[in-house]
Amino acid sequence: MKKRELYDLCSQRLAKEYPAAATELHFSSPYELLVAVMLSAQCTDKRVNMVTPALFKAFPTVQDMAAATPGQIFPFVRSVSYPNAKSEHLAEMARMVCERFNGEIPQTMDEMVSLPGVGRKTANVMLAVAFGGQAMPVDTHVFRVSHRIGLVPESCTTPLSVEKELVKYFQHDRLSDAHHWLILHGRYVCTARAPKCAACCLNDICRSSNY
Ligand code: SF4
Repeated sequence: MKKRELYDLCSQRLAKEYPAAATELHFSSPYELLVAVMLSAQCTDKRVNMVTPALFKAFPTVQDMAAATPGQIFPFVRSVSYPNAKSEHLAEMARMVCERFNGEIPQTMDEMVSLPGVGRKTANVMLAVAFGGQAMPVDTHVFRVSHRIGLVPESCTTPLSVEKELVKYFQHDRLSDAHHWLILHGRYVCTARAPKCAACCLNDICRSSNY
């Protein structure tokens, strides 16, 4: 099967499978999404959603968080992974947003990755989810699932090379949707251990299907 055909079939089927694809993180502003995405590194969205209501109540704006010390943030995030490092990054990120960006979360890749604790994946999530752009953040699910299906060659061994390949072949105006499809598929069907190939809508076209 030609690569373009594989991408088209995957898009059609995953769009049908996940018609309301969206992030599972709870947020109501770019500031809240940025905090939630930073907390979600190496942690589940479910766990992050458990801690953010109290965190956002204590620090409702980026200015409030900028005025806090890491030690004041820590008690709210102690149950997520790497709470010490994340508390420090949140405090530093908020301070920099206030000092350099006038309290507005920046909207370009270069500006976002200049913030402490914000990498390319987090910046891409912000572009795709908070700012309505088209972007392909590559997390562990996107990386694994796109390799298994055969959307990317085995030579794509880094998140950036996977991102470039997916951006090249997915329809541009469905890129952010495709990101959500691959995440949801990886979370609920093509799981890291024991993928549910028998129940998978891609099992006749996936190169790793065991069904
Ligand atoms: S067929 Fe199996 S390996 Fe392929 S995408 Fe579906 S669950 Fe994953």
